[in-house]
Amino acid sequence: MLTATAGFRHDSIGAAREVMPQLAGQTRTFTVTATEDLKTITPATLGSTDVLMFALTSGELAFDAAQKDAIAAFVQNGGGFIGVHSATDTLYNWPEYGRIVGAYFKEHPWTQEAAVRIEDAAHPISSGVPASFRLLEEFYTFRQNPRPLVHVLLSLDPASVGAAGDFPLAWTQTVGRGRSYYNALGHFDSTWRDARFQRQLTNAIAWTAGRQ
Ligand SMILES: [Zn+2]
Repeated sequence: MLTATAGFRHDSIGAAREVMPQLAGQTRTFTVTATEDLKTITPATLGSTDVLMFALTSGELAFDAAQKDAIAAFVQNGGGFIGVHSATDTLYNWPEYGRIVGAYFKEHPWTQEAAVRIEDAAHPISSGVPASFRLLEEFYTFRQNPRPLVHVLLSLDPASVGAAGDFPLAWTQTVGRGRSYYNALGHFDSTWRDARFQRQLTNAIAWTAGRQ
């Protein structure tokens, strides 16, 4: 779990780093190694990792070429990737990363309570998550709608923000032999403490790790 930033730094990083080990302790299905130190992302550490999670990362993180190769190879060869919230506001200048996370952030037109909808209730990541629910969030839009390239699991109900259009908020895809999941929620501490968000993340860890 990487929470390093080279751009905007979310206040909710503290909550994220608190909640993920709590979920690990509750579910006993995974353990978390949280780091802010890019140097710890190496072929060796990735070799003992099932899922690489970019949580609230931002900007042009200063990975060297060998690290980028190692991350890309990790996913291509069957490693899991999870991106959360500003993981799409990260590494714009590394197109392979953009393919792994699925889209790049464009803007956040709505910071308010709104409704979100599960689009694929049968997907393992949706298990135990209500079909629709309301929450306070900073809702993202993306430079390109990722829908043609990914499997959308969660989207914004546009009517709930007085808008029209298609606004995917979470999705899966396969990248080589690896599985990737992105969830655009997570701006506020309250989201990280929200059981409906937590359920998606714990399910996503199992799915991206290839256990489901
Ligand atoms: Zn945010």
